[in-house]
Amino acid sequence: MSHTYIPTQLRKLIANCANDCCEYCLQPESMSFISHQTDHIISEKHGGDTTAENLAFACSLCNKYKGSDIATLDKETDKITALFNPREDEWNKHFQLSEDGALSSPTAIGRGTIKLLRLNQPERIEPESVTSIL
Ligand SMILES: [Zn+2]
Repeated sequence: MSHTYIPTQLRKLIANCANDCCEYCLQPESMSFISHQTDHIISEKHGGDTTAENLAFACSLCNKYKGSDIATLDKETDKITALFNPREDEWNKHFQLSEDGALSSPTAIGRGTIKLLRLNQPERIEPESVTSIL
């Protein structure tokens, strides 16, 4: 998590572009007890800037689990793989939502992101809320 001040106007721009939903798990901010946050896609420690191109709207859990990580190990290919980048990657190409609310992925980027951000943690899966946003 960054300690860099993000101007209110920039935060609002990021939230608007994301339709007030987490850009990783798609949870609407209105359904979250904790306000969504502004995530540095490429963290500052890896040289990421505080610009709209490098900021994503993220729920507190996605932001917490992602931390400053930008990559992870994909067990299926046994290779280091970049995490999902909301500015470069298309969500629907990397994530598939099942009726029970769990996510799966045909790509290393998707699998790595699901694992690292713990997107399929039982307490994060709420079928009723997921179907309402699709
Ligand atoms: Zn999220």
